Amino acid sequence: MDRFTRVPISNQDPKVRATNFDEVCLGYTEEEAVKEAKRCLQCKKPSCRPNCPVNINIPEFIGHIAEGEFEEAAHALAKYTALPAVCGRVCPQETQCESTCVLGKKGEPIAIGKLERFAADWAREHNIDVGKTKEKNGYKVAIIGSGPAGVTCAGDLAKEGYDVTIFEALHESGGVLIYGIPEFRLPKEKVVKPEIENLKKLGVKIENNVIVGRTVTIDDLIEKEGFHAVFVGSGAGLPMFMGIPGENLNGVFSANEFLTRNNLMKAFREDYDTPIKVGKKVAVIGGGNVAMDAARTALRLGAEVWIVYRRTEEELPARVEEVHHAMEEGVKFEFLTSPIEVIGNEDGWVKAIKCQRMELGEPDASGRRRPMPIEGSEFEFDVDTVIMALGTSPNPLIPATTDGLDINKRKCIVADEVGQTSREGVFAGGDAVTGSATVILAMGAGKKAAQGIDKYIKEKYEK
Ligand code: FAD
Ligand code: SF4
Repeated sequence: MDRFTRVPISNQDPKVRATNFDEVCLGYTEEEAVKEAKRCLQCKKPSCRPNCPVNINIPEFIGHIAEGEFEEAAHALAKYTALPAVCGRVCPQETQCESTCVLGKKGEPIAIGKLERFAADWAREHNIDVGKTKEKNGYKVAIIGSGPAGVTCAGDLAKEGYDVTIFEALHESGGVLIYGIPEFRLPKEKVVKPEIENLKKLGVKIENNVIVGRTVTIDDLIEKEGFHAVFVGSGAGLPMFMGIPGENLNGVFSANEFLTRNNLMKAFREDYDTPIKVGKKVAVIGGGNVAMDAARTALRLGAEVWIVYRRTEEELPARVEEVHHAMEEGVKFEFLTSPIEVIGNEDGWVKAIKCQRMELGEPDASGRRRPMPIEGSEFEFDVDTVIMALGTSPNPLIPATTDGLDINKRKCIVADEVGQTSREGVFAGGDAVTGSATVILAMGAGKKAAQGIDKYIKEKYEK
């Protein structure tokens, strides 16, 4: 066996998958997983582990896979993460644990994410119960939002014996995992829902269709319903727009709306009564993971799709794997291009976008070279749908309805390293605090906040 070469993983054929919503990556077989795991050097001081935001003992779980001990591998993962099948699929491992794997110096790093996915899938397929909880301790904690931050905080507290209730605005639980990331990257029935069910097995209650700040306030939860602490994991779901003329035309979507209508409202399924009008030609504005997801979704709904991005391929913020998959499937890219107007027809529907070519100047505050418009380079581009994937910010509802909860200039809740906010007993973490980030960072914040809440409650009520 070549120690430096990764065991390849199978994907659905690009031509076939561009027409369906089934998962793109098919995962390792048992034999492939064992072979890949055997490449791991089981480093005494593993350089991969410090780069995992939830500190998974990576050599431990990979060592079990190498020995064919798949159940033990799943237990080793469960000590640190409530969502291994999700993280194995969507975490940017190439910039985290895998980026510092020692094998990467001379060859290909261990496929840590794909092995995590394998162990989690194997445990689910074999009905392995990985959750253990302590006896109930009598304290109640409310969690707002069922995304990765809320789910992780809830799971860790339930394991410690807390009586945990999640309040979720939507009718389904999982946050972006359920409404944002498409089925072909993260299957809902097969992967997300079972991980949410595991949480319920730990005793966590989930109340859907509850908008905190409308249905109930944080003050009500503490003062009337007797919760000893609250964790706010309400994410960053408020879309940003460019502020250019024509953005209010029919046929302009935010990526969040487009993806939610497809993922949560199942617009892609003929047996649902909530379709979406995608049109024949679609421009997606932006270059992050959300833009790739919107573009690949529009493609699967039958459109010809362009990503319009103001920098070059090199600066694309999306994961390399996602860009590669989008290109393989037939998404086209207009680099160094920025829209300046959306043009409509007489009925108020989009018919084109007016764009401007850009060139890269000196680096800006983000360290990336600043795109500068080229004078006289304007051109029109016929499209019938425009999807804005320009980023999101936290919804202001919770801070606006909670006295003493400070936010910063970016509308994010201010919290310290264990999630304590300016309001006693109220903790926060994930995208609501950092702005739009990643699943694993949200999970890391949920984990730290669980420790912060445990300490706060014990110090306050047991002295
Ligand atoms: P969220 O997942 O946003 O969950 C917040 C939850 O709170 C939601 O369910 C919301 O309905 C609920 N909520 C909000 N307000 C209230 C309220 N007032 N009352 C009750 N409930 C409320 N990250 C990656 O690591 N890899 C990827 O590949 C990736 N792809 C992405 C693709 C898309 C399309 C998007 C949008 C994001 C992607 N991300 C990815 C980012 C990642 O999903 C987020 O960083 C992560 O989900 C944040 O977790 P969270 O728990 O903080 O918030
Ligand atoms: Fe294995 Fe790489 Fe981590 Fe070493 S650094 S333990 S080889 S995954």
